[in-house]
Amino acid sequence: MMSRILVTKPFLPPLDEFMPYLQEIWNSGVITNGGKFHQELEDELARYLGVSNISLFSNGTIALITALQALGIRGEVITTPYSFVATAHSLLWNNIKPVFVDVDPKTLNLDPQKIEDAITSNTTAILPVHCYGNPCDVENIELIAKKHNLKVIYDAAHAFGVQCHCGSILNHGDLSILSFHATKVFNTFEGGAIISKDLEMKQKIDQLKNFGFVDELTVTTAGINGKMSEINAAFGLLQLKYVDKVIQQRKLIDAAYRKKLSGISGMRCLDASEASVANYSYFPILVEQNAEIDRDSLYQKLKDKEIYSRRYFYPLISKFPMYSGLPSARDENLKHAIQAAAQVLCLPIYPELTIDQQDFICNVILEELGNTK
Ligand SMILES: *Cc1c(COP(=O)(O)O)cnc(C)c1O
Repeated sequence: MMSRILVTKPFLPPLDEFMPYLQEIWNSGVITNGGKFHQELEDELARYLGVSNISLFSNGTIALITALQALGIRGEVITTPYSFVATAHSLLWNNIKPVFVDVDPKTLNLDPQKIEDAITSNTTAILPVHCYGNPCDVENIELIAKKHNLKVIYDAAHAFGVQCHCGSILNHGDLSILSFHATKVFNTFEGGAIISKDLEMKQKIDQLKNFGFVDELTVTTAGINGKMSEINAAFGLLQLKYVDKVIQQRKLIDAAYRKKLSGISGMRCLDASEASVANYSYFPILVEQNAEIDRDSLYQKLKDKEIYSRRYFYPLISKFPMYSGLPSARDENLKHAIQAAAQVLCLPIYPELTIDQQDFICNVILEELGNTK
């Protein structure tokens, strides 16, 4: 039997390459509060991602909560139930009412046609997720937002480096947020960021993440502590040197899965991203109704062989107790999201996954779904 295969494994550059950064931090004595590495990482990420303003955060969740604060969002916000729970939690932390809208079964992103039906006089914003790094229908979301005078905040936690025909996907909406958590394509151990369009907004966000301090003696808003430390920023700078290789490796793994898993009855891979540059952050398959065994059985069979796939995203956010009583959480409202949550399984994908390991995973799936190619 092979050794344990986890769904993801953070990419760690050689430790000796990190030592000079640590030495410099020790020499300077500056360990947080916007030091040299923090500044450098903001500059380099802005260049790499093709965005004009980026504010680093201690994690993606605080970035989401702060983004909503920066835009003064209140009332109701339209969002997707098919995401990591932090998406909707950021609304509750701002006393905002989440309104769940169903996803498009093809992309598993918010369905723009259904957004409009959910708008009420209390709606102030839309909070979509570029799920698995697959771009949302940004054009139609923008049209709806313009028409109804709504703000748009993209949870782009999965979308590091993703580009659409017009450049970085992160330039859409009023603000986008990123997560640099260990499980993401680009990580700083823990970390996150907000992408903003103008410098004035960036300054507001930078104040909000630093307790609301405008200068040494002036506090104008009830800000939070969302600052990224110098250690995390330095690690990000080193990580950034490897990120193209990391994404290239993921691309090969993605292509190999698609080839090995094609033509199996009862399952399909989620359609490839329509992005012009994708990041291959997840590899979701869908175990369909007519399959030999159901999704949870396949999950267990893989686990028995020490292959740890993940049911992202199951349960739906709307099923958790703080959301399940909302009118928009009703099953009839979320048909496609419910189906996806029952069928999805994210397979292991990370740069070090070997061809042998991938073959092993695919063979278990082939055996269990009961057909030989
Ligand atoms: C990871 C993730 C977050 C939260 O990011 P953290 O950095 O872990 O706080 C938010 N939304 C989505 C969709 C995520 O996958």
